[in-house]
Amino acid sequence: MRVAEISLPAIRHNVRRIREMTGGAVIVVVKADGYGHGAAIAAEAALAGGAAMVATADLEEALALRGSGIDAPLLCWLHGPRADFAEAVAADIEIGVSNLQQLEDLAAAAARSGKRAPLQFKVDTGLSRNGAAPEEWEALFARAAELERDGHLRVRGIFSHLANAGDENDRAQAARFDEAVAMLRGAGIEPEMIHLAASAATLTSPHLHYNTVRVGVAAYGLSPLADRTSAQLGLIPAMTLRSEIVALRGVPAGTGVSYGFNHVCETATTLALVPIGYADGMPRALNGAGAWVTVAGEHRPIVGRIGMDQFIVDVGPLAGRLSLGEPVVLFGDPERGHPPIEIWAGLLHTINYEIVVGIGPRVLRVPVEGDDA
Ligand SMILES: *Cc1c(COP(=O)(O)O)cnc(C)c1O
Repeated sequence: MRVAEISLPAIRHNVRRIREMTGGAVIVVVKADGYGHGAAIAAEAALAGGAAMVATADLEEALALRGSGIDAPLLCWLHGPRADFAEAVAADIEIGVSNLQQLEDLAAAAARSGKRAPLQFKVDTGLSRNGAAPEEWEALFARAAELERDGHLRVRGIFSHLANAGDENDRAQAARFDEAVAMLRGAGIEPEMIHLAASAATLTSPHLHYNTVRVGVAAYGLSPLADRTSAQLGLIPAMTLRSEIVALRGVPAGTGVSYGFNHVCETATTLALVPIGYADGMPRALNGAGAWVTVAGEHRPIVGRIGMDQFIVDVGPLAGRLSLGEPVVLFGDPERGHPPIEIWAGLLHTINYEIVVGIGPRVLRVPVEGDDA
């Protein structure tokens, strides 16, 4: 009853478009279950679209992807003090290294396994999250060069993450990043992948592309920019959240709808029950906010409070044309007439990222090849 259709052609198209736009390698970020699209589904489509590598935030997510049969180059960068890098080495997962302790732990794990572990340095250039601080770079890179010579490690890349705090701040971060890259080269290490831009900078700032970009939301066809739509960026939203009508009821004027009767029907109409609710990531805060769905190609309003498992649509004018099982689209590609996810994000004062990643586990992710499965 609850389906997130994931368009594989859309993800492939988006990744190809980013490759054409940048001319370099593309790393596609599939953390948080592929931004809610299904990590393995997203990873396979991204690789088919030409991604050189996929990435997750943490090692657990990366190991799960290996368990799903994804054997492409795979990077992860957010580690707790008890992260087991031996598992990473055994599974050929590249570790994003942010400090000396992680470097030593990785080298020790590699030495025990007799393998040479690939890694990429994550440096902080101003975001103030993880990533090695500038005063740590010199010692960190010198030690890595030693461990490379000993045959335990191979430094494959270096990266940093932008604060998206405007062009001037981006340029200042890039200047610091350039210093880090120069310092790494000074230590005798030539990184293969050099990457700073995530989706926003990839789409707006060619001077920040280096030889690789690292994109999440754009690969799923969503815009990271408040003032540009997916279509304006040449991207296709990959997720269509859909359900179906499971009950239809004609009601007289004055009928109260759902908990608290915060909606009362002004005229006689027909109400359709749709079995998706806030447990599935449909925000309860949409109550009375004027959000709509598409039913039989028409825009129809969501009425009354959203429950944990279900919500109600006023389908009055369509009633004669509908039967149980009629599809209801909650959001999808506006170019195909579906509500854009940005309506929900706007009503909730948040970003499309938070909506898409919050789609719950009861919603079945269904990869689709065609346009309209
Ligand atoms: C999540 C994340 C990304 C992807 O960001 P988008 O804005 O979705 O492209 C890139 N790099 C890092 C370090 C991240 O944490």
